[in-house]
Amino acid sequence: MPKNLQLIVTCEHGGNLVPERYVRLFQGVEETLGSHCGYDAGALELAETLSRSLSVPLYASTVTRLLVDCNRSLRNRRSLFSEFTRRLDAAERTTILEDAYLPHRTTVEAVVAEHVQRGQRVLHLAVHTFTPVFHGKIRMADAGLLYDPTRPLETRFCRAWQRALSDSASGLRVRRNYPYRGTADGFPAHLRHLFPDAVYLGIEFEVSQKYPLAGAAAWHRLQYVIAGTLDTAIRNFSGERPTSGTPGV
Ligand SMILES: [Zn+2]
Repeated sequence: MPKNLQLIVTCEHGGNLVPERYVRLFQGVEETLGSHCGYDAGALELAETLSRSLSVPLYASTVTRLLVDCNRSLRNRRSLFSEFTRRLDAAERTTILEDAYLPHRTTVEAVVAEHVQRGQRVLHLAVHTFTPVFHGKIRMADAGLLYDPTRPLETRFCRAWQRALSDSASGLRVRRNYPYRGTADGFPAHLRHLFPDAVYLGIEFEVSQKYPLAGAAAWHRLQYVIAGTLDTAIRNFSGERPTSGTPGV
């Protein structure tokens, strides 16, 4: 059993950039691009804070998910491509995958494989944000920890982090496997097929977009609470730090 734990942070919906060659596909839909349909507001900033605070690498995609969704598997015919791209011909869709999907997916996959080969256990944290109101319904949480409940290490880690977040007095309402199930199609779900529980923990951390949209001061405070509690949960989980870096929290 590997003793070392390596944390890596990823962000699949970090931005809403449209590469020059695809601008024609999104003419007149700037509002959609700027909404939660186009990207996860605040996710990249939080991922950068976690990466910096815990001195671990960040792998982020900043191209809009409306071109291709880096958090869906290749076989997901329903939502890998969006309403703006799914009707393109096969050659164009392949080019989009090569431009905006495979670089992120294959890089992260290779990084995980490399750590596992070195005998390390990888804690992969995929950072996302969710819209507080979805289809007119208010979501009853401020943050969510998504994982596979059949994987004991993921379950243990998420319970520990949820406890640390509750103890932080930030008033954050944290739920497990909400607003989505951790076993639904996402990047960690794909990686679980490749790496067993003993060496790979794939967690999606979701925070409500009401925080990044509310104002800088409270959002910054919350980011450092999240970083601090993540650090605590990792220490309690493994009894050792994931890297030699010093957290700035
Ligand atoms: Zn997302």
